[in-house]
Amino acid sequence: MSTTEQSNVHGLELVERQMLIDGAQVPSRSAETFVREAPAYGVPVGRFPEADAEDVDLAVRAARAAWAEWRQTDGATRAKLLTAVADLIRRNVDEISRTECVEAGKPIRQSRDEVLSSAGLWEYAASLARHNYGDAHNALGSDTLAMVVREPAGVVGIITPWNFPLLIVSQKLPFALASGNTAVVKPSEHTPSTTLQLGALLAEAGLPDGVVNIVTGAARAGAAITEHPGIDMLSFTGSTRVGRALAGKAGEQLKKVELELGGKNAQVVFADADLDAAVDAAVFGAYFNVGQCCNSGSRIIVEAAIADEFAHRVAKRAEHVVVGDPLDERTDVGAIVNTGQLEVIESYVRQGREAGANVLSGGNRRDGLFFDPTIFTGVTEQMTIAQEEIFGPVLSILTFQTAEEAVSLANGTSYGLSAGVWSSDVDTALSVARDLRAGTVWVNRWMDGYPELPFGGFAASGLGRELGRQALDAFSELKTIQLQVGARTGRWVDAPDDVSR
Ligand code: ADP
Repeated sequence: MSTTEQSNVHGLELVERQMLIDGAQVPSRSAETFVREAPAYGVPVGRFPEADAEDVDLAVRAARAAWAEWRQTDGATRAKLLTAVADLIRRNVDEISRTECVEAGKPIRQSRDEVLSSAGLWEYAASLARHNYGDAHNALGSDTLAMVVREPAGVVGIITPWNFPLLIVSQKLPFALASGNTAVVKPSEHTPSTTLQLGALLAEAGLPDGVVNIVTGAARAGAAITEHPGIDMLSFTGSTRVGRALAGKAGEQLKKVELELGGKNAQVVFADADLDAAVDAAVFGAYFNVGQCCNSGSRIIVEAAIADEFAHRVAKRAEHVVVGDPLDERTDVGAIVNTGQLEVIESYVRQGREAGANVLSGGNRRDGLFFDPTIFTGVTEQMTIAQEEIFGPVLSILTFQTAEEAVSLANGTSYGLSAGVWSSDVDTALSVARDLRAGTVWVNRWMDGYPELPFGGFAASGLGRELGRQALDAFSELKTIQLQVGARTGRWVDAPDDVSR
C-alpha cells in the first residue's frame, strides 16, 4: 500500500494548534507558522506557530509573574494538581497516543505505553511535592541552630526532542512544578502536538495561568529560551551537539543547567548468559523506536567464543520484527522521524561498509521513511559505527576475549549514558557493572526505567540527573539559614558598649 493510500485509510487531517502563554491559546506575534508531516504517511497533520524571541519573552514574563504565587503554594496543593494531570493523561490516552503515533511515526502500542508511563511520572512527582524538605543542624554549638531549605530555582526553560515527546517533557515538567518552579516549554518542531495537548490538560486540572507556558518552533525559539536572562535554569534533552552549545550559553550567563544527551550504549554478553534472553534484548535494544532512543543498545560486545552463534540468532529474531504502518496494532517498528535523519542513517551504514564491517542483515531503506533492521558484524573499536550515535535501527557487534577487554570496549566512546551486562555468574555481572562508566547499568535486562530511579549520563551523555527523589535537588536551590540561640556573646571589636553621645 502506498503512503497516500494509507493516509486515506486512516483519514488523517491537518490540525491547527496554538501555543500556550499565560493561560491563553495564542499564535506567534509574527503570525509565522510551520507544518509537520506524518513521517509514515507523507501527509501534513499539524500547523503550529513559529515562535521567535518576542514570543519567548512573553512566555518568560508570564512564567515570572506566575512564580510569585506558585512558589508559595503548599506541597499538598501541588501534589493534588499533579495527580489530577496524571488522571487526565490516562483518561485521554487514546487521543494523545494516536497523535503521538501519527506525528512521531512510532507504533500505536508503544505510543500508548509512552502516554501511560508519562502519567506515572506525573503521579510520582506528585508524591515528591509533599517531601520537599531540607535538613536541620542541631550539633553546631549551643548558640546555633541552622537549617538548609530547598527553594525553587525560579523559571525553568525546558527544551525537548522528538523521540519520546510526551515522556521526556514528563521527566522534567512535573518535577519542576513539584519543586515550585514555573516553566517555559519548547517541544521539538517535529512533534509539538502532544505537549500542547498536555498544556490543555494542565489548564483542565486547574493549574494557574502562566505556571506552564508552551512555545512552538525550531532552533531559533530554543536559542531564545537559552539566552533569555529571565530563565534561571535550563533542562534540555537532545543531541550532544546542541546540548554542548546550550551549556556554553548557560555557562556564560551562569544559569543552572541539566542535560540529557546522546549515547552509544553497549550490552556486554558473556558466554554463560541466558542467551535467549540476551538475543531478545539485543533486538529490542537496537530496534525499539527505530533505534531513535538515547538509551538504544546500539552496540553488542559479545564473548568471541559465542559471537557467530549470537549474531546469527539476533539476525534470525530480527527477521520477525514487524516494520511498517504505525497505526497498525501489529507493528513493532515505525517510521524514521524525517528525511534528514534517514539520510544520516544511510550515511553511517555506508561508512560501516566502507570501513570493512560486514552487513549480516538489513542495510537498506524501504519505500517511504522506513529502514531495515540492520546488523553489522566484524566491527572494530575505531570504526565510526562503533563510536558515534546513529539514532537508527543499526546494531554494531564487536567481540571480546576477556572481561577487561569487554569493559575497555564498552567504555571506549565519548559517551556514558547506559550499559548492560549479561552473565549468569554473579561475580562477573557485578564486577563488570561496577566498572562500566555509565549513568545506568542493566544486569540481565535492558532499557527499562522507573520514576523512582535517577537517570542521566556520564561524560558526553549529559550533566546532572533526572527522576528519583534527586529530581527535587535538580530543580532547587539550597538556602542555608543560620539562627542565633540566646544572646550573641563575644565581640569582634573590643570596644565599650557605649550608647551615650
Ligand atoms: P533531536 O534532533 O534529537 O531533537 P536536537 O538537539 O536537534 O535533537 O533538538 C532537541 C531540541 O533542541 C529541539 O526542541 C530543538 O528544536 C532544540 N534546538 C535545536 N537547536 C537549538 C539551539 N541552538 N538552541 C536551543 N535549542 C535548540
